[in-house]
Amino acid sequence: MLQESYDNVGLLVGDPDGEVSGALVCLDVTEGVIEEAITHGCGLIIAHHPLIFKGLKRLVGSDPVQRMVIKAIRQDIAVMAVHTNLDNVAWGVNGELAQRIGLSPAHVLETRPDQLRKLVVFVPRDHVEPVRNALFQSGAGQLGRYDECSFGVDGTGTFRAGAGSEPFVGVIGERHDEAEVRLEVIYPTMIERSLLRAMMEAHPYEEVAHFIHPVLIGHPQIGSGLIGEFPEPVDPVAFLALLKDRLGIPWLRHGPMPNRPIRRVALCGGSGAFLLSKAKAEKVDAFVTGDLKYHDFFEADGRLLLVDVGHYGSEQFTMTLIQRLLGEKFPTFAVRLTETVTDPIHYS
Ligand SMILES: [Zn+2]
Repeated sequence: MLQESYDNVGLLVGDPDGEVSGALVCLDVTEGVIEEAITHGCGLIIAHHPLIFKGLKRLVGSDPVQRMVIKAIRQDIAVMAVHTNLDNVAWGVNGELAQRIGLSPAHVLETRPDQLRKLVVFVPRDHVEPVRNALFQSGAGQLGRYDECSFGVDGTGTFRAGAGSEPFVGVIGERHDEAEVRLEVIYPTMIERSLLRAMMEAHPYEEVAHFIHPVLIGHPQIGSGLIGEFPEPVDPVAFLALLKDRLGIPWLRHGPMPNRPIRRVALCGGSGAFLLSKAKAEKVDAFVTGDLKYHDFFEADGRLLLVDVGHYGSEQFTMTLIQRLLGEKFPTFAVRLTETVTDPIHYS
């Protein structure tokens, strides 16, 4: 639901109506991962990165992706991808990374447009509470650390019931005045369908007058990258050592060392160079990501400590996150983490 337009996520190989008894979670699908799934009888591979990203024009085994798709189908193994759905929420890839590093996450670095909307619904005064409660229970009315936020103003609604209608109040063919409340709530766009369904169920009218408005402020928990803070400032040299230690990486690349301690840190698991100017504008002390190029380090312009911990290094904990999320939702379903290190880059 939060995937980027260029992405290719969800079920990529397999029967949508098929049954599986166990899943293997990985960052990337490799031939080694498929072998592992076969060995452990896992009928489903859940990967962070999509196995099929670009269009496939033939399946003849002439490249690794084609070979893996053929192998998965032959072995009756389904393959799913999560990718930007987990990249784009504060508690996803970046929240997991922040936690490993010891940062308390604050908000996303770059919010995505159209992730918040406002619902306005007109409710007869005696029915405001059930409707309001239904909206809250569906996830509307969250504002930072506050929930159950709404606004209501009294007014008078008018309507004339037509032939064949079954009005809740009033008489068919006569205009009716009803004391109503204009009720407003903010909600994340992704819950819209279930929210509207809950509103319709709780509302007594046959025709529910309601409007949906765009909200031009971003959702602080939905978007790219993340900003977090250390409880105490950390010396830059100690910060780099901490990254290597917590991420279990032998190697990282960084720009010139600043002469100030590190406290506010921007993160982006995977390839985060596109967020560099945003991190600079946010005046963070450091920006940690992967896949940086030579010129990105010039662009940092000494305004923050730019650190490349590698694509795999910055996203490896996503596997545990997926396992944990699945465990919470499907407690009896066996989910194992791959033992295959799929990082294609080796350091020597
Ligand atoms: Zn990635």
